[in-house]
Amino acid sequence: MTQTEVLEVLSPADGRIAGTVPVMEADAIAARAAELRAAQVAWHQLGADGRAPWFAAYRDWLLDHAGELTDLLQLETGKVRHEAAMEVGMAADLINYFSKIAGGALATEQRKPHSIMSAAKRLSVSYQPHQLVGVITPWNFPITGPFMDVTPALAAGCAVLVKPSEVTPLSLVAALEGWREIGAPDVFAAVTGAGGAGAALVDVVDYIQFTGSTATGRKIAVRAAERLIGCSLELGGKDPMIVLADADIERAVNAAAWGGLFNSGQVCVSVERVYVEAPVYADFVTRLAAKVADLRQGPGPLGSTDVGSMATASQVDIVERHVDEAVASGARVLTGGRRVPGGTAFEPTVLVDVDHTMSCMREETFGPTIPVMKVADAEEAVRLANDSAYGLSASVWSQDEARALDIAARLDAGAVNVNDVLANLFSFTLPHGGWKESGIGSRFGAEAAIRKYCRAKAITTPKVAPKNELMWYPYTKTRSTVVHRMLRALAGRGKRRIGKVG
Ligand code: ADP
Repeated sequence: MTQTEVLEVLSPADGRIAGTVPVMEADAIAARAAELRAAQVAWHQLGADGRAPWFAAYRDWLLDHAGELTDLLQLETGKVRHEAAMEVGMAADLINYFSKIAGGALATEQRKPHSIMSAAKRLSVSYQPHQLVGVITPWNFPITGPFMDVTPALAAGCAVLVKPSEVTPLSLVAALEGWREIGAPDVFAAVTGAGGAGAALVDVVDYIQFTGSTATGRKIAVRAAERLIGCSLELGGKDPMIVLADADIERAVNAAAWGGLFNSGQVCVSVERVYVEAPVYADFVTRLAAKVADLRQGPGPLGSTDVGSMATASQVDIVERHVDEAVASGARVLTGGRRVPGGTAFEPTVLVDVDHTMSCMREETFGPTIPVMKVADAEEAVRLANDSAYGLSASVWSQDEARALDIAARLDAGAVNVNDVLANLFSFTLPHGGWKESGIGSRFGAEAAIRKYCRAKAITTPKVAPKNELMWYPYTKTRSTVVHRMLRALAGRGKRRIGKVG
């Protein structure tokens, strides 16, 4: 018998082993997929109302175990307590919302006929879940991240196999114990391992939801195309923040600091670059540097620190490279700028005198840096904001809301927060998806979040059912003339064209 390979999960704060998970091979993943498929049939038949009590029981279990789950999550991510402790609460919110709207989202819809052509038919659309959905997630939100996609898929009536990141699998695996403990049907499970396990998962599911890097997302899209299964990809971002001269500068500074540094900048919709109109630039950067310099970094009990570690040493290397390359090309560090000795933390950093030749303005940094660039006016800000391969989200700051909305309309991004940051990600009724190389498809968006995991089935039934229909055989001259005249009258929108048949 071959020994199962295990994956060691390191604690970023001090490098010790936080736990291990098995590296699952493709045949084990296929076997688990078969078990979930078998259980999905009854899960689907329960209907949204029948599934609701399981969601309520699971939400309660998660909240009852929030302390232990948060401890584990903090251990494997190096997050500060405040940020680690948000994850279980967010998961509970997701469970409540999607469980609540599932019935409406899955209800069969009656559709009106588009014209007289189908006026004699009753038309409806029903939504039938994919049997098995795969969810592959990165390491930045080990509990909330998977639940953003797992919850609507389960609510749709699918079974879900989730592949957490090999960097932070422990807290999700622990959260899954609750699903078993409450005795819920075997429709929600994890596969563990690295990229190989992820690739094996793509091979056994009916739909794949992926969050992670653009490079891996491309590979998954190719495999999904080969298998002809649907996929939705939420990939990288380089979100711009545009601060106009008439903005509330204090709010904008506070938002830039939090939006850029929350979770050590390891957020897909993090503020990655800032463009400030010339008249307020000096004031903005002075205040931002002071705000960021005041932040407290490091481990500690709730309320004692603001910024934590990064999840991996290689992520710190990327941040360091972006800062060093910028400085070598003439940028200045106003505060921060260095790796913290020991562990995997990088100082919260404000960079100025940056431009679009620099990696810090072009590549996703995914770290605690805020590069700020002075722009002559809003036109230049829009041009630079759109000068990116990415298009996940953006923010615009102005006290003239109409002007801000006009700029929002011109930005190539899946979401724009006006006078706000990250707000779209916490709004489950809005679609969350990236444009350009930031992805395909979207998550959330009210009922769409659940229907995404379903196949739509169109049903027609005649209101009256004569023995024969005008369009059917035989094609006699009279019947053909009537049909063609009707079609022309309808399509031509007028009597004038009725006569020209054939
Ligand atoms: P990161 O998490 O460092 O941004 P990735 O985008 O590669 O990097 O990883 C995101 C998730 O995708 C992880 O769970 C990882 O194991 C998984 N993954 C990596 N390579 C593949 C692959 N070829 N197919 C499927 N999943 C993969």
